[in-house]
Parts: sequence; structure tokens; C-alpha cells
Amino acid sequence: MNYEFTEEFAEKQDAADPLKKYRDEFHFPEHKGEKKLYFTGNSLGLQPKNVEKHVKQEIEDWAKYGVDGHFEAGNPWYSYHELFSEPLSKIVGAKPHEVVAMNSLTVNLHLLMVSFYKPDNKRYKILCEAKAFPSDQYALASQVKHHGLKPEETLIELSPREGEHIIRTGDVLETIEKHKDELALIMIGGVNYYTGQLWDMKTITKAGHNAGALVGWDLAHGAGNVNLKLHDWDVDFATWCSYKYMNSGPGGVSGIYVHEKHAENKALNRFAGWWGHNKEERFKMEKDFDPIPTAEGWQLSNAAVFSMAPHKASLELFSAVGMSALTKKSEKLTGYLEFVLEKVSRQQDGASFEIITPRNSKERGCQLSVLVHGEAKKMFDYLTKEGVVVDYREPNVIRMAPVPLYNNFMDVYRFGKILRAAIDH
Ligand SMILES: *Cc1c(COP(=O)(O)O)cnc(C)c1O
Repeated sequence: MNYEFTEEFAEKQDAADPLKKYRDEFHFPEHKGEKKLYFTGNSLGLQPKNVEKHVKQEIEDWAKYGVDGHFEAGNPWYSYHELFSEPLSKIVGAKPHEVVAMNSLTVNLHLLMVSFYKPDNKRYKILCEAKAFPSDQYALASQVKHHGLKPEETLIELSPREGEHIIRTGDVLETIEKHKDELALIMIGGVNYYTGQLWDMKTITKAGHNAGALVGWDLAHGAGNVNLKLHDWDVDFATWCSYKYMNSGPGGVSGIYVHEKHAENKALNRFAGWWGHNKEERFKMEKDFDPIPTAEGWQLSNAAVFSMAPHKASLELFSAVGMSALTKKSEKLTGYLEFVLEKVSRQQDGASFEIITPRNSKERGCQLSVLVHGEAKKMFDYLTKEGVVVDYREPNVIRMAPVPLYNNFMDVYRFGKILRAAIDH
């Protein structure tokens, strides 16, 4: 695509954008009476305007029905989580019975590792990322300790080569090969939260299986951002949060995927609760746990309806748009941001950026991470003052994510203008 750093170009792209109407479906924080340039959907997605209606319905049904709302509410709470199977399965590329919305992300990571990290004397190591998102690091280390093992002897951490930012797939495959006799599990963030790198999940999953390991992905930055085919890639398990790209509100409900071949295996060890028990028998309150042979078999508790109502609202938009149209726009829009960043950077001596996100659009989602040579914090503060919402990570990285559902080309153009002014400043 031939990009231009002009207002006319941005306007023309927006006018031709098949998803343009969705921008109006969101509430934007404002700056001097105008929408902020919000590029932080990778951290907390904006609120869809239909959230209020969906939450209100549950508040009203609770008032109206009390306990009978479990079966008589407009969306009966007893089966509320079932509303998500279909839309989530499309977002992550799974069968509907392979996914369920429940709990929060780190909780789910733990629950899934209870089932899928089964170290023995020979096979006990976990392949993961160095500098993974802290919660994942803590979860991994504590799971290892839970089995009486030492993290430093058990976790194999993948790092980029010296002087590089991106981890090469070839290096991952080599590491798997090297440890093939002792590898129990591979657990990596499918899109790295810091660099925005999208891993080759298909290839790595296959290599992990060939080595005899199980493979799970943390899709906090993947779900709702990139095209996923978890079932076809034969991924064993995955989990994600809904408050980043899925716009379902702070601390919103997480989701899990478990491949049907595992879900059908009732003997698979897990931490159990009544909501994972055979539905026909649930209220008989019998002693022995009989897991539902789907992803629902990992549920512990009844549905957290008030955190799920915004999720329901948000997924209506995802179902209307579809991941294919979304990622198509995403590629163009992030490509434009990349173009604008280079344009602005190149024209000025002294202040330069280095985009550390992969330059190949197939190896990233919508986020770009920029290493600022110079006074990164000062630049970040200037942008903030001008109504730009990006995210700053010590010591010098600014992360920005133009989200295709509500950002547009004009946002990126305006951002470029402000960035140029920031450099001049
Ligand atoms: C956002 C994020 C989390 C957050 O975990 P919560 O349990 O939802 O607080 C964890 N891991 C990764 C990789 C993330 O990006």
C-alpha cells in the first residue's frame, strides 16, 4: 500500500473503511472537547456504548426476579457463560465446546497448568520467555515450586540474540530440539506484550509435540488482535483476558481453550468445582466429581454475571465484524502508523526511533513498540499533555496500538503531527 503523510490521505482511507461505523459504538475519553488519540487498547480497550444496556438488564433482572433470575432472567444466569462459546470460538479458532469464559487470566493459567504441567523425573522442564509478563513469570515459578522443583533448574527461558529484539523461530526450534528429552511443557505469550511479536504458534506447537511436550499459549495480547486457529494448530490449551483487545472492562472475565481431545478425557487431573460437574447431576449434590467433557469441565464457580455482561456486549460487535475483516484493517492501519513513525523520525536529526516490533505484518498484531533514543519519558509526557494515550515502559519504550475496531487513519495522522511537534519541542 502506498501511504502518504497527509490529511487528505487519512481522510480518504477513513471514508473508504468498511468498519468506520464501529468507531461510533465506543466511548472515548476526551481532551479539550475532542476524542483523545487513544492507542492503548492493548492495555484497556474502550467501552462499547452497548455495555450499559447489557449491564442494566442484569441489574433489573436481579431486582425483578431475585433467585429466580437463574432460570427466568432474560439471559438466565444458570447458563450465562454458554452465551460466549460461539463468539469466542470464532475469535480464537476453536470449536465452541473447546472454550469457556471464566475467572481471570492468571487464575486460569494456574488451573490449566494443574492439568497440563505434569513433571516426572525425566520430563519436567518448561520452555517459556525470558522477561515474560510478570504475572506469567510468577505463575510459572510458583507452579514449579509447587511440584518441589527449582525454577532456575526447570524453566528454560527464550531470549532474543544479543543486539536483537525479536526471538527467531529457528532459535526456538533449536532450543526445543536441544531439550527434547526433558521438556514437559511449552508456555509462551502468543503475542509478546512488550515487543508486539506474534509467535509462529503453529510451527512451535508442532515442534513441541514432536518433542513429546504439551503446548499452551497465553493470548492476553493475541485474542481479538490476531487471527488464531487454536484447534487446527492442535494447541493443547490457552487462556486470555477480555479487557485488552476485547474491550470488556477492567478485570473483565477471562477465557480458556482446551483441545477437545483433552476435554473429553475425564481422567485428566484438575482442580474441580461444582460448575465443572455434569450439568444434569449438578443439583443432586453428589459426592463424586463428574467433569463436563468440554472446556466447561474446568469451571469452578457459577457465572460472574456482572463481569460477563460487558463481555456479552463487546462480543456482539466482534461477531458482527469478524476477525478476518478486523485483521485486514488492522494490517493497513498499523502499516500506516509504521510509515508515519518513520516519516517523522527520519526528517529530524538527533531524535530517532527504532521500531522493535517485527516489520513483517504477519509477525505482529496491531501494536508497535518504539524504542526512543533520547529522552523517552519527556516525549511521553509531551504526548500525554497533547491528548495522546500511549503507554510508556521503562527505560525507553513507548507502546502504541491502533485498534481497528475504533481507531482510524486520522488518529494516526494527528498522532504523527503531534509527534513531530514533540521532537521539535
Ligand atoms: C495483561 C496480562 C496479564 C494480566 O493478568 P490478569 O490475571 O488478567 O491480571 C497476564 N499475562 C499477560 C501476558 C498479560 O498481557
